Amino acid sequence: MNNRFSSMSRHSQLDRRRFLMAAASVAGLPLVGVTACGTGEPQFSTNPFTLGVASGDPTPDGIVFWTRLATDPLNGGGLPPDQSYEVSWRVASDSNMLQEVQKGTATATPELGHSVHVEVEGLEPGRHYWYEFRAGSEESPRGRTRTADAANAPLDRLRMGFATCQHYEAGYFTAYRHMVAEDLDIVFHLGDYIYEGGPAKESAGRPRLHNSPEIMTLADYRNRYALYKLDPDLQAAHAAFPWSVTWDDHELDNNYASDIPEEKGPMEREAFLARRAAAYQAYYEMMPLRRSSMPEGADMRLYRRLSYGNLAQFDVLDTRQYRTDQPCGDGNKPLCDEAFNPEATMLGAEQERWLFDGLRKSQARWKVLPQQVMMAPLDRALGPEKIYSMDKWAAYPAGLNRFLSFLKEGSIDNTVVLTGDIHNHWVCNLSSDLNDPDAAPVATEFVTTSISSGGDGSDLREGVEQMMSENPFVQFFNNQRGYVSCTITPENFQADYKVMDFVEKPGGSISTRASFAVENGKAGAVKA
Ligand code: FE
Ligand code: CA
Repeated sequence: MNNRFSSMSRHSQLDRRRFLMAAASVAGLPLVGVTACGTGEPQFSTNPFTLGVASGDPTPDGIVFWTRLATDPLNGGGLPPDQSYEVSWRVASDSNMLQEVQKGTATATPELGHSVHVEVEGLEPGRHYWYEFRAGSEESPRGRTRTADAANAPLDRLRMGFATCQHYEAGYFTAYRHMVAEDLDIVFHLGDYIYEGGPAKESAGRPRLHNSPEIMTLADYRNRYALYKLDPDLQAAHAAFPWSVTWDDHELDNNYASDIPEEKGPMEREAFLARRAAAYQAYYEMMPLRRSSMPEGADMRLYRRLSYGNLAQFDVLDTRQYRTDQPCGDGNKPLCDEAFNPEATMLGAEQERWLFDGLRKSQARWKVLPQQVMMAPLDRALGPEKIYSMDKWAAYPAGLNRFLSFLKEGSIDNTVVLTGDIHNHWVCNLSSDLNDPDAAPVATEFVTTSISSGGDGSDLREGVEQMMSENPFVQFFNNQRGYVSCTITPENFQADYKVMDFVEKPGGSISTRASFAVENGKAGAVKA
């Protein structure tokens, strides 16, 4: 049994209240609505739109537009901590912004780090829009976005990209520069948007360095996000497409699980939850998220559903906030008894119910699950020994079996899992029976490599062929950096695996290393 988790359940109500109150008194936590603004036109020492613009979580008639005012982004933002600013925004249907369709004002408050989240409604489905912000006499860069297609309407094609793991010190985000040249309707980010550690001890040869020791406080997290968001390629990709984001571990702490930090002991649970509240708040502030994702103390609802006509439903998952602790003391090892705890969960009971319910009722051709850690039960040891990563679904067999049996028994077809975290490209077939790798697949897993984490990498790795023969569900492996872009039609879900020749220096080029596709009604990937 996992005692830490059971004790959390018992006290969660109380703790939630306490942390709400603590957060509210410390940070004056985010109230929707707004405080009064100063009067008169604000003056800025320099253009405050240093972190660019973004849009996200499209519906058929709406979208979130995001920006943040920061004249000194790496040092707390540079704006007075007691002053709010009026920010005007406008949306147009053409790239020159002559055909204005909506405009308004929002308030950037110090409580939310002078970020702005505008939820616009009343747009037309399935079309591009352009948007920009203005504060005082300063203008933001212009962004382009696209609404989702009308609910259940016939849709014959969707272009989607997904990416993950962008360690600032490991390389440049050049892959995003190439992504911008593609024609994508939406981008999913599967986590490790930032990394929380201090600068590398051996900094020689590192292309870039982190700007502080390991981040702990709200101010630390804000400065770290600013460091990443100053990257011009990342900004360009946000300005080019709507994104739908979810986090993994490094947005808070490596391999944390719910309220349990990576390193047990040095940080008490209360202190860790205060850190989690800071990390979650900074995440909300920096991402184009809806008010429904506004954090409450150390809790934040990030799992949610997006739909594109009758073609694709995206259930964006959170496998960090509600999971039971990694079994068997984490790390890579054989499954010990603790791993077989039937109560063990990746999603938590509520999210799991929400997911199963949504999959059962879905009318969409493709059911797509953007999520974090690998589902396919990858044995990492060559030879007879079986070694699994305790951080991935393989170490939560009860939860994984519930999901796979649900797909099989409910005859849920055309399920495609999108995964990040592991810093390599993979294509895996998900069998209905974990003990029988030859059982027919019930779903397909496309795993994207990292944007930069791990550095340049290499096409293959020693032992790959043996690894693939011992894990016959693996269809493809590559260890370069990049992302995956997908073309979804009613007949076909195709994934193009993009790889960078290098990322440790600027200017790398990209190519498609391999393409795999799932055919309508036939789980499992084939080479396209
Ligand atoms: Fe990562
Ligand atoms: Ca991770």
